[in-house]
Amino acid sequence: LNLAVIDPLKCIQCGLCEEKCRFGAINDFEVDSIHCEGCKVCVQICPVQAIDFVERICGHAYISETKYGPMSHAKLIPGMETSGKLVVLVRQNAKRLAEEGGFELVLVDGPPGIGCPVIASLSDIDKGLVVVEPTLSGIHDLKRALKLLDHFEVESLVCINKYDLNHDNTKAIRGFCFERGIDVMGLIPFDPMVTKAMVVGQPIVEFDPDAAASQALRKMWSEVKGHLES
Ligand code: SF4
Ligand code: SF4
Repeated sequence: LNLAVIDPLKCIQCGLCEEKCRFGAINDFEVDSIHCEGCKVCVQICPVQAIDFVERICGHAYISETKYGPMSHAKLIPGMETSGKLVVLVRQNAKRLAEEGGFELVLVDGPPGIGCPVIASLSDIDKGLVVVEPTLSGIHDLKRALKLLDHFEVESLVCINKYDLNHDNTKAIRGFCFERGIDVMGLIPFDPMVTKAMVVGQPIVEFDPDAAASQALRKMWSEVKGHLES
């Protein structure tokens, strides 16, 4: 991403850039790097070409070895815009790792919502598993996510997490999916062991293989695998 920088030696302090920046990123002839969206309007309108456009680093991409296999991931610098570019880089690295290592499957853990990073995580995927919790906002987000997957012609699957916290909403989600021909892959119960596993930094299936959530996750995974192989 790019960032506007004002050269104080060239600036004649006309105030035009501050007036035209719709992100409020310029104050007292200085650019606030957190608010600058890199739209370049100020660069174009400055009458004395006092504003430069510089590249800035938004985050770093990493490739790590884990005991479950290689992992491509990234760290966004706090305050930086969550553009899809970093996600695209993570996806490219993952694809390369899979090709080099002869892996058949790349699992992409997409972010919540329907913004740029989500769209970037959807490109070229075979199936999208939407994880929803049985709340009204969860149902709302589910509908938006399914619409997005539809738009990109990606087959949708659904998993209901903590399904037992609201049986009415779980029923509503299942009904909604049934009407649209979307398969519900699994129902994961609320399980306090999940929090304990997170505290020690382990997946629940490893921390407590017999926990209710672990059993439900294994069952769901075999359903998902069946779908991927079909
Ligand atoms: S590049 Fe756009 S957002 Fe950044 S300071 Fe200039 S006008 Fe504002
Ligand atoms: S538009 Fe250019 S000259 Fe005017 S205040 Fe901004 S940087 Fe300075």
